[in-house]
Amino acid sequence: MARLQLPERERWEKILAESITTAEELHRLLDIRREGIEPVLSRYPMRINPYYLGLMKKSGDGVFEQGVPDSREILDLEGEEDPLREEDLSPVPGLTHKYPDRVLFLISNQCAMYCRFCNRKRKVGHPSTVTEETIREGLSYIRKTRSVRDVLLSGGDPLLLSDQVIFRILSELRAVDHVQIIRIGTRTPCTLPQRITPQLVRMLKGFHPLFISTHFNHPDEITSASAKACGRLADAGIPLGCQSVLLKGVNDSPDTMVRLMRKLLLIRVRPYYLFEADRVRGTSHFWTDVQTGLEIMRCLHKSISGLGIPQFVIDLPGGGGKVPLLPFGNDPGSRMQDSRSRIQDSRSEMQYEK
Ligand SMILES: *Cc1c(COP(=O)(O)O)cnc(C)c1O
Ligand code: SF4
Repeated sequence: MARLQLPERERWEKILAESITTAEELHRLLDIRREGIEPVLSRYPMRINPYYLGLMKKSGDGVFEQGVPDSREILDLEGEEDPLREEDLSPVPGLTHKYPDRVLFLISNQCAMYCRFCNRKRKVGHPSTVTEETIREGLSYIRKTRSVRDVLLSGGDPLLLSDQVIFRILSELRAVDHVQIIRIGTRTPCTLPQRITPQLVRMLKGFHPLFISTHFNHPDEITSASAKACGRLADAGIPLGCQSVLLKGVNDSPDTMVRLMRKLLLIRVRPYYLFEADRVRGTSHFWTDVQTGLEIMRCLHKSISGLGIPQFVIDLPGGGGKVPLLPFGNDPGSRMQDSRSRIQDSRSEMQYEK
């Protein structure tokens, strides 16, 4: 409870410092004894901070499964370490230049919680992957590459860096004439909303046009604390988007997804992408088939305004890039057919409601 008296700027660090990181703590504090977890942790780190832990209602729920390791992470060998070929498309380490006008720039290897399904599982939590040197080289690549108009800061989680370091990187980017848009990809509004302090927000506001892409996967992740964090960012004029991942056992049902999208709109976050889970090694127990995603998209279209509907995308293996998957079929014939049956459906629903 002592942490409640700390000033906000120190509180998030204290919460983070109290994270569960060992199998022993997992057993002692959570009474979880999952078979064969030790070897998983020596390969892929665990961090469950007390805030995120508090969102877990029961063993096996949609929040629990995102944060608690599973032996299948090292037993199932399906998939690849880097199916998106981020490393091959990196002109300098830690920066991926796949689309001409945009770069993905990794500036942190830490996260407030290590998601078990992470598509950068090979890197997150390993200190050697992002260093001052790789950040310097990334900035210098951006400076000399005039086609780059949009810089997407990612990691790891950029907001796990200190305000001072973030300020320095943003200042260097803003000093580059051809960089128009800066985006920050961060899961902290979901996994550690206490990170969104008034000081941080005041600083970020100085770097517009600045966008934030956050990442919620389950309606139980939307709390009064996350609403407050997103409210602060939105009040500072920062447009908020959400990139969710479709995960078996977490959110692979239309009902969960409809609730998630509705709650996101209530905290002023616009759903942006819903990703089909990448075929990354150690995550196969989360994979769904394409039909599941398409069915969910059909239900979203029936239930929510376009404002609350993300694009369902698959990031093609081999570095092919993101491709939208359409819920009503890609050929115009089947699309018409589908929309006819939708019209039928909604008519009968309306009659039913009368
Ligand atoms: C997803 C991604 C981006 C950003 O793509 P948008 O569709 O503009 O959000 C940029 N670079 C890489 C390598 C990406 O994977
Ligand atoms: S916050 Fe993002 S980068 Fe970090 S573990 Fe989760 S999905 Fe991966």
